[in-house]
Amino acid sequence: MRLIEAREASIAFSGQGHIVIVEISLEAFRARLSSEIFLRDLANPSDQPQMSQQQFSDIFRRALWEAHRKRCLYCGTPLMFKELAIDHVIPEKLIDGPFLDQVRTSHHLVPDFNITGDENLAPSCHPCNWDKLGRLLTPERTALILTRVQEKVSETRRLRKLYEDECGADRAIIRILTALNAGKISWQEITSAIRNYETEQDVFRLNQEIGFLDGGRISSMKKSDINRLLDLPVKLGTDLPEGLRLLKNGDERYVRTSREYRTAKAEGFQPYTNFELKMAGFFELPCAVFTAVEKAQSSTKSFIREPRVGISDLRYVPVSLLPYLNTQPEPDCLTLDDVHAKGALTIRSTTSYSIEFEYGGMIRILVEIMRADLDGDGIEDILLWSYERVIGGSHSFVSVMTLARRSPEAIFEPTDV
Ligand SMILES: [Zn+2]
Repeated sequence: MRLIEAREASIAFSGQGHIVIVEISLEAFRARLSSEIFLRDLANPSDQPQMSQQQFSDIFRRALWEAHRKRCLYCGTPLMFKELAIDHVIPEKLIDGPFLDQVRTSHHLVPDFNITGDENLAPSCHPCNWDKLGRLLTPERTALILTRVQEKVSETRRLRKLYEDECGADRAIIRILTALNAGKISWQEITSAIRNYETEQDVFRLNQEIGFLDGGRISSMKKSDINRLLDLPVKLGTDLPEGLRLLKNGDERYVRTSREYRTAKAEGFQPYTNFELKMAGFFELPCAVFTAVEKAQSSTKSFIREPRVGISDLRYVPVSLLPYLNTQPEPDCLTLDDVHAKGALTIRSTTSYSIEFEYGGMIRILVEIMRADLDGDGIEDILLWSYERVIGGSHSFVSVMTLARRSPEAIFEPTDV
């Protein structure tokens, strides 16, 4: 990186083939020169500022970026991952130089302050990174920036561990595929091992996949997966770098993971705008599934298996499952089959575990997510996901409930999760 030109109105920096023009007045530039020590002059007068020597893994870069809500720590600008630079707040060049002790004193650093440690690394946009050019900031500004870094160190470490664990899973899959390719194991050996594992471990299969921000998806899970999955950022319908905003008596909280959403809801935080309500819908499915799997047990009895009965069997689905926003009671009707027979309900599509129908100007989609004993009575229940919207309108509503069927004659009984 090289300072190529300094004029009165602007300074141009060149680095990695980019040219950035920083508009700055000469007065401001002079003021900055006098208020900040140029490390270049301090450490090695003839040397130009250099690129960082320290290498960072993409996992660390992502963890730091997400812990700081994907923003530049210096100017607050939202950053794309590819725009991220990692800045040493106390410049890296000081490590072996003769001025380190002097800086420790002038900047009130702790005796074991580690220049290459997490406590000195700040996510930065390229303009701020170039603007700083390896300079040492004033003690006041350094203290402020290091405090902000310190606040996110434990979150950065937690995310790094999380993503490293995920890579472990990736590597395991690659190893299995390689072994298959090389003929070291057979497809039958793998499937029978998985089948044995499933029967021993209580794997809950999900009819509806759950997607995460990193592109990962799951279609089955065990109780032991819950803790890890609760901390994965949830995939929302749009990009919200800070997460979803929830409000409580004027207090704001931003949530990205199911655990954060669940905790905030339990403390009384709620989505506020129509947009936020819609985004909150994306948290409802993973939260409901994780809560259900926490409670789930293998059933000892079932009235929905052999013969298989499900949400698409309208003769077992009660009228209470007509669209939620509907206030008109259907006289003389017990089930959706009765309503259908009267011609008031139109089926748009069905599968063995889902149904989409139209009723009273609304569309409702009901999807079975998983089956297990969800209320501890030993009888198999269904976890049901519901989506409804007004035809031609933009309002939609997502909810999750449990359906119980407690005898061979009974129809489904919905209960809240
Ligand atoms: Zn910046």
